Amino acid sequence: MSCSRRNFLLGSGAVIFTTGVATTALANGKKLIATETDGLIRYGMVHDETLCIGCTACTDACREVNKVPEGVTRLKIKRSEPIGDFPKASYTFERISCQHCDNAPCIHVCPTQAAYRDPKTGIVDVKADRCVGCGYCLAACPYQVRFFNPETKVADKCDFCRKTNLTQGKKPACVESCPTKALTFGDLNDPNSDINKIIQTHTVYRMKVELGTEPKMYKVPNNKGEILG
Ligand code: SF4
Ligand code: SF4
Ligand code: SF4
Repeated sequence: MSCSRRNFLLGSGAVIFTTGVATTALANGKKLIATETDGLIRYGMVHDETLCIGCTACTDACREVNKVPEGVTRLKIKRSEPIGDFPKASYTFERISCQHCDNAPCIHVCPTQAAYRDPKTGIVDVKADRCVGCGYCLAACPYQVRFFNPETKVADKCDFCRKTNLTQGKKPACVESCPTKALTFGDLNDPNSDINKIIQTHTVYRMKVELGTEPKMYKVPNNKGEILG
């Protein structure tokens, strides 16, 4: 499947869909979201924005575990504008990180196959020894989550701790550090996984699905202060 330049440059923002639709998508399943990784592990994540308190323990843990240099980051927590007036103002928090797209523009544009998806896990990653630093993937990513690592000089981004925590049988550092259990990581191909249970029982959304990127990062919306269509 291809993802045309026009497709991934078009549009922005979130598409909200209800529990019913998400359930249908999972039940029919596998056809809507099928990939060459079908039958294998296909890791994804849910960020429950109703549980997120914006503490940024996840960003700190990511930096420490993955040795991410200062000045760049694999994971941001973006705070909303204040909702309501002081002293009763509240905020919502959005996770900004790689969406591990099943149809990833960064992979399509990479001239050296340095940007790739691990077929055993569905994780989109970078082969450092193949990266020539052209920057095509940084420009092509609709979520703007790739950067050049100032120490390694190659393209970098979240890899779900594939080369660190996952090798030790742990969950990604952000998930392990979250004090409110706002993050759930697991296999989208396993109908009994915790991540699928959340997707099936909550209203969830993914960012920019209209681009056809098929992101594997789901969010439970915190719709405080706004009406979601
Ligand atoms: S979010 Fe960006 S970097 Fe991550 S897989 Fe999708 S296109 Fe690639
Ligand atoms: S910067 Fe590296 S990973 Fe990105 S497109 Fe160029 S060679 Fe591929
Ligand atoms: S650690 Fe958990 S609660 Fe804190 S900002 Fe990250 S996702 Fe939100």
